[in-house]
Amino acid sequence: MRKKTLMIHGGISRDEQTGAVSIPVSHASTFKQNGVGNFKYEYARTGNPTREALEAIIRDLEGGVAGFAFSSGMAAISAVMHLFKGGDHIILTDDVYGGTFRLATKILNRYQIDVSFVDTSDAEQVRKAIQSNTKAIYIETPTNPLLKVTNIREIAAIAKENDLLVIVDNTFATPYWQNPLELGADIVLHSATKYLGGHSDVVAGVAVVGSDRLARELHFIQNSVGAVLGPDDSWLLIRGIKTLAIRMEEIEANTKAIAEFLQEHPKVRRVFYPGFPTHIGHEVHKSQACGFGGMISFDVGSGELAEQVLAKTKIFTLAESLGAVESLISLPAKMTHASIPKERREQLGITDGLIRISVGIEDVQDLIEDLKTALDS
Ligand SMILES: *Cc1c(COP(=O)(O)O)cnc(C)c1O
Repeated sequence: MRKKTLMIHGGISRDEQTGAVSIPVSHASTFKQNGVGNFKYEYARTGNPTREALEAIIRDLEGGVAGFAFSSGMAAISAVMHLFKGGDHIILTDDVYGGTFRLATKILNRYQIDVSFVDTSDAEQVRKAIQSNTKAIYIETPTNPLLKVTNIREIAAIAKENDLLVIVDNTFATPYWQNPLELGADIVLHSATKYLGGHSDVVAGVAVVGSDRLARELHFIQNSVGAVLGPDDSWLLIRGIKTLAIRMEEIEANTKAIAEFLQEHPKVRRVFYPGFPTHIGHEVHKSQACGFGGMISFDVGSGELAEQVLAKTKIFTLAESLGAVESLISLPAKMTHASIPKERREQLGITDGLIRISVGIEDVQDLIEDLKTALDS
């Protein structure tokens, strides 16, 4: 099946018992056993039919061996981090998602798991950061908010030579545009709160693994640590995924037009959009993904002007998060990246005048006019 078909018919697409074309929401916490130890489902933390249907569709979309659904993107990321133990070392992309940075620097250190933040878009730096106790390379591509691109194949080759796991947070690219497991990664993560859900109405996370060994380990961790996704939220995600393809196509076209508008606007100093041939990493991104996604960051030069733009847009909603049908606008330095120390933010290039937008599926002319009015006023 091709991707658009897979989104509708992949995984477990109907209820065997009734033929219902929409998977039922199973609100059961426990299940009758046919005899001691003879059962399909036992207890819903270990397995629930609605969650299982979601885990099957996300497994198919990422081309993995097994999928796992968690109560948030961070819960999925923490579950994966439980694969490691005290004394291990992990290399992470330097402008990794703020919550992941916080987890790595404020929680994992309590368990003596050591981390290094490296510009993973530069393979040489990744090689240099490998230590005798390094166990994994954790990357995001494109990154948030500067949309830096890491070459997944290249990282996977380095990892293979050194017997390391490659973990990719694929939230920004979505499985519609990019499949890291096919490029050599071992584990793919998503904040399903974003594009997979797509309607700003559910918080969830998923992980997909590429081997039976990792599937067994991650299922053990999911069941042991316990941050599973409930049946209602699982159902919302299954529903969201059905329209992922058409949403991403629409978002792709809107984003390209908006990036071009911003590029020409006199008050905009710089536009970060991986779809521009001038964007560093454009060619690499094109070699590993089929679309550029719905995120743009642009620098208007000062925090004051940036805040004015945020105050004046009417269709772009001032809010954190991304990846939904409605367009969102935010100021990374004061919002999503506020937990990153100012000094480090500036090192990364997240200036006070940097605005981030997540483009939705509204009429693109309305979106452009909204930004134009806000920038010109
Ligand atoms: C939002 C996000 C997360 C965290 O996901 P939650 O669902 O908010 O816990 C992780 N990675 C990226 C890239 C994100 O955008």
